[in-house]
Amino acid sequence: MSTAGELLSLIRDGAAVTRADLARHTGLARSTVAQRVEALLASDLILEAGGSESTGGRPPTVLAFNHQAGVVLVADLGATHARVAISDLAGTPLAEHAGDLDIGLGPDEVLTWLSARFDELLKESAKTAVDVRGIGIGIPGPVEFATGRPVNPPIMPGWDGFDIPGWFASDYSAPVLVDNDVNIMARGEHWVHWRDTAHLLLVKVGTGIGCGIVAEGQIHRGARGAAGDIGHIRATASEDVVCRCGNIGCLEAVAGGRALATRLAESGAEASNSRDVVRLVREGNADALRMVRDAGRTLGEVLAGTVNFFNPAVIVVGGDIAEAHAELLAGVREGIFSRSLPLATRDLRIVPCRLGDRAGVTGAAITAIEHVLSPAAVDRGLQAA
Ligand SMILES: [Zn+2]
Repeated sequence: MSTAGELLSLIRDGAAVTRADLARHTGLARSTVAQRVEALLASDLILEAGGSESTGGRPPTVLAFNHQAGVVLVADLGATHARVAISDLAGTPLAEHAGDLDIGLGPDEVLTWLSARFDELLKESAKTAVDVRGIGIGIPGPVEFATGRPVNPPIMPGWDGFDIPGWFASDYSAPVLVDNDVNIMARGEHWVHWRDTAHLLLVKVGTGIGCGIVAEGQIHRGARGAAGDIGHIRATASEDVVCRCGNIGCLEAVAGGRALATRLAESGAEASNSRDVVRLVREGNADALRMVRDAGRTLGEVLAGTVNFFNPAVIVVGGDIAEAHAELLAGVREGIFSRSLPLATRDLRIVPCRLGDRAGVTGAAITAIEHVLSPAAVDRGLQAA
């Protein structure tokens, strides 16, 4: 039997927007629908938006989701950079900031910084802590999604097992969702641009390399939250490169932004990070152009294995290095099509990330919103009210 939370989902999807629609759609008695709609109206989650098309007589009242019934606070924390935003319940940003932040400073310093940014965002949008319905945070390492705790994150000293949701519990009563940075990018790009695509991979090529997996429309995290860690799959091209993980010839150590910057610096160019690599490509530096294209091909060869294994419909390539997408994608296509099975690559689309550096905060907002507006969460909220 459909609960009020389930009726809200139908209204949000546009599947049913009048009381009569809802009754038809769910098989509930009209009186039951009326009661549940009343509860949703009282909670501010929906509003009456006037009449729909007239069929003679008084037009039925159209119900609409009230995306201003609260806000979500979100953060995309990278290795050296952070982006924070406040969004309404449709995921539309009300205010947003980006700045340098070293994740290696540890949880106390980083989360103190983040709390201060959240305060500023609330003030800027004339909201307070009680308006906050959810918090979504992406971090550059594996996460146990159910508890929001990082699990052995290699570039985040001091964060292993840290209770990130617990940190915010004294300031906010809203749930805190923490996920891997690549998963939230995949979530954002999928939600905004590929919602009808069930199987999608988002590959982030930044300082390191990771992959977010959307399977049957949902993020696939794996048994321990480590799914999609393709950066440490062995790349075929190289025998002698030692990776920071201790293995030899990892994809990330061959084709990641840090690896490319190091090699460009060795050849005399001014490069210390992945953004420098992109700058050199834009300036037409021949070494940089060749290296990014080679990196794309190496990445494509590793992705060919995932294509044969997972059969995605779309591969989205994002991250800093993907800003040089003409060169990178040409290489990726070459690598994938030279090694994948024809059936797996039939209709396969390989495209740049359209949300760019906003994919993370967008996905963090969607992750939080989908959690707090899930039928079960809405029903719990209504019962408590
Ligand atoms: Zn490695």
